[in-house]
Amino acid sequence: MKLPSVTCGTHGKQPQTFVCVHIIDGAKAGDAKGFWWSRGEDGVWDAICDDCNNLSQAEFDALGPNNIKVICLGCYEDAAALNEIELE
Ligand SMILES: [Zn+2]
Ligand SMILES: [Zn+2]
Repeated sequence: MKLPSVTCGTHGKQPQTFVCVHIIDGAKAGDAKGFWWSRGEDGVWDAICDDCNNLSQAEFDALGPNNIKVICLGCYEDAAALNEIELE
C-alpha cells in the first residue's frame, strides 16, 4: 500500500496526514489543544482537536474543507507528542 506523500521542510518526504488547523496552530505555539486521532482503512492518519471533537457532525462539516490541512507524518507525530498522545 502506497500512501500519498508530502515533502516537509523539517522531516523530508513523509506520508500525508490530515489534521484540523487548530492542531497546527497549537503545534506552532506549543499549545496542547487535544488530539483525537484515527486511521482510515487506507492507512492515512487524521486527527482533530478537542473543540472540533465536541462539534456535531453537521457543525464540523459547516467548517468546510479549509478547516483540515495536510501535514507530514513527522509533524503529526510531533503534534501527538505535544498532546501526550501515544499512537498505536
Ligand atoms: Zn480543531
Ligand atoms: Zn514534518
